[in-house]
Amino acid sequence: MLSALPHSHPHGQHVLDFCRDVPKSEMHLHIEGTLEPELVFELAKRNGVATHLPTVEDMKRALDFKNLQQFLDLYYAACSCLLHEQDFFDMTWAYCVKASSQNVRHAEIFFDPQTHTERGVAFSVVITGISRALEQAKRELGMTSALIMCFLKHLSGDDSIRTLEESLPFKDHITAVGLDSTEIGNPPSKFKAVYDLARAEPYNYRCVSHCGEEGPRGDYTEETIIGDMWKTLELLKVERIDHGIQSLRSPELIKHLSEKRIPLTVCPFSNVRLRAVDKLEDHPLKKMMDSGLLVSINSDDPAYFGGYCGDNYLGVALALQLGLADMAELAANSWESSFLPAVAKGARIGDVAQVAERYAKTEEERSGVEKVLERGKRIGAVAIAN
Ligand SMILES: [Zn+2]
Repeated sequence: MLSALPHSHPHGQHVLDFCRDVPKSEMHLHIEGTLEPELVFELAKRNGVATHLPTVEDMKRALDFKNLQQFLDLYYAACSCLLHEQDFFDMTWAYCVKASSQNVRHAEIFFDPQTHTERGVAFSVVITGISRALEQAKRELGMTSALIMCFLKHLSGDDSIRTLEESLPFKDHITAVGLDSTEIGNPPSKFKAVYDLARAEPYNYRCVSHCGEEGPRGDYTEETIIGDMWKTLELLKVERIDHGIQSLRSPELIKHLSEKRIPLTVCPFSNVRLRAVDKLEDHPLKKMMDSGLLVSINSDDPAYFGGYCGDNYLGVALALQLGLADMAELAANSWESSFLPAVAKGARIGDVAQVAERYAKTEEERSGVEKVLERGKRIGAVAIAN
């Protein structure tokens, strides 16, 4: 994705250097979407699983998707090579090393237990492998994390309740529940029951959900999309929306999301690869920022969409010609949107300001740094006052 963009930034190289150096939090990352073709084939060989694609190169060529469903078909095929705890560990550890090299200091990671339990892999195998890698990442890379258990939208509400029940012995490893997979034809009402259960004792999970990713297509009208976004907020009572780029279609929705500071975890490369947006230069991220929405940059399924979190920062800065102040705002948003306690959010936003200060050259850039610094203090102070 980055190779298609100009290599120099109109405001100067320091903007790109800042994008690389700034500490980031990533909240929209499917761990199964970090399976690079090389690892898929290594695991397939190790486990004696036949893949339907003959070579790594063929698999890379298959990454040219027409829509979300085409991607999901390949994604589920690649997941079939994950069988043992060590496989889940290797996948998660590879992500942590890569993300950490791009200064992702905290990650709130989705995993899809049903993709694996449906194939006969035990829930305990999945979560133990992933959790072990995350603990190692904290110890060895200083990278903190949280786990978000996702239910698959294309499966039934009853299936999601069974999965929730299976998670009970491991609830201390899980921070929140989410919803992903096929958006069209799977309205939020299907999952109201499981979200009600997940929010209550004994789980006490926090709630997020994918929605507002794809634009209108056939029977999936603008009205349905906006209606589903409202229902996601009202029925599922989510505290964060994953994607949500279609919210720009409704001034009422924008007003609600910005007044309540409900974060939208946006994934620019993913939106281009899955054709929700034609090209990165047309991405609505800046428009969303200007509308007052709390948006952050995330990588979604980086092995499939052309780059990790830091790559998305660079791509957006280049394609939308965003300056240092905008990029600092986005990095600060990533921390404000996280599940971390307010004191930690305030401190991390302070770190963003500190790095931005090192790179700021113009008056406009310095005033951007000041705004981020003030926000960090305000969020930290609210925590202390409470
Ligand atoms: Zn996603």
